[in-house]
Amino acid sequence: MTFYSSIMKTIDEQGYHFEEWLQPAQIAKDVAQVAERISADYADKEPLFVVVLNGAFVFAADLLRALKDVRCEVTFIRVSSYWGMSTTGQLEFIVPLQQVVDNRDVVIIEDIVDTGLTIHQLKAHLRARGASTIRVAAMLFKPGKLEYNDAKPDYVGHELTDEFVIGYGLDFDGFLRNLPSVYKVKES
Ligand code: 5GP
Repeated sequence: MTFYSSIMKTIDEQGYHFEEWLQPAQIAKDVAQVAERISADYADKEPLFVVVLNGAFVFAADLLRALKDVRCEVTFIRVSSYWGMSTTGQLEFIVPLQQVVDNRDVVIIEDIVDTGLTIHQLKAHLRARGASTIRVAAMLFKPGKLEYNDAKPDYVGHELTDEFVIGYGLDFDGFLRNLPSVYKVKES
């Protein structure tokens, strides 16, 4: 059993106040239900999971280990579209796709889908390289902020409105990704 002895209920960082929103036990439930659905859908396939760094590394590690009887490959790409608390609108491939995706059933693992720009562009990238199917598993989804219809995730751990969140892989200017809970920013 995982035991986090020092989970903070609130965090103050660079003038912003964050409050704990999803505790590790809730996150574990969310991950388990996503893993169950993916396991059922991909039992007879050999999917390639594309983990979007940096933010998705924590979710991916939990999700991939929770899959049941799915023979799969895992690869990583690193993109950047976000600085501070707002998106720049431009996707930059910092670590490009290194795996051949031609004729593969691809599942993108993402930390959070916000406007959907990242997923929209990634899907186009994977389609252009011949992926036969592309689905998206996102730990978090902000449906109210979605601007690209094809970016709606197929598997979602938890939905939220439009708040900025940190923890469980999600950063604030590069920091706080290692927090085991997810925290929401609160207006002060
Ligand atoms: P999108 O392209 O969907 O607008 O944004 C996706 C990326 O923006 C995510 O992979 C994540 O890196 C970042 N992002 C979006 N919303 C949040 C948020 O609430 N908190 C953090 N830390 N990053 C976010």
